[in-house]
Amino acid sequence: MPARKHTPIRTCVACRTAAPKRGLIRIVRMPTGAVEVDDTGKKAGRGAYLCRSVSCVQTALKAKKLERALKVALPADTAQELLRLAVQADEEEVTRQ
Ligand SMILES: [Zn+2]
Repeated sequence: MPARKHTPIRTCVACRTAAPKRGLIRIVRMPTGAVEVDDTGKKAGRGAYLCRSVSCVQTALKAKKLERALKVALPADTAQELLRLAVQADEEEVTRQ
């Protein structure tokens, strides 16, 4: 029996667009209460998702949407890492065009 490919759909906390999980950045609140950017999508904990776009990251940071989704304060270095990933993704987008 072939394994069925399953594509989980998640919603960006900033723009509310549903997208395949892999296309989004996952931010996870670990069981310890620490917040991390989860690039593998495999870390245990409560997750929130953002588009890989600078505008969504900025919207989420400004409106504290991740804090609300995860019910935890977002460390400044995590915010920085999110922005860095989003800028990187935007640049890759430009390169592909
Ligand atoms: Zn978005």
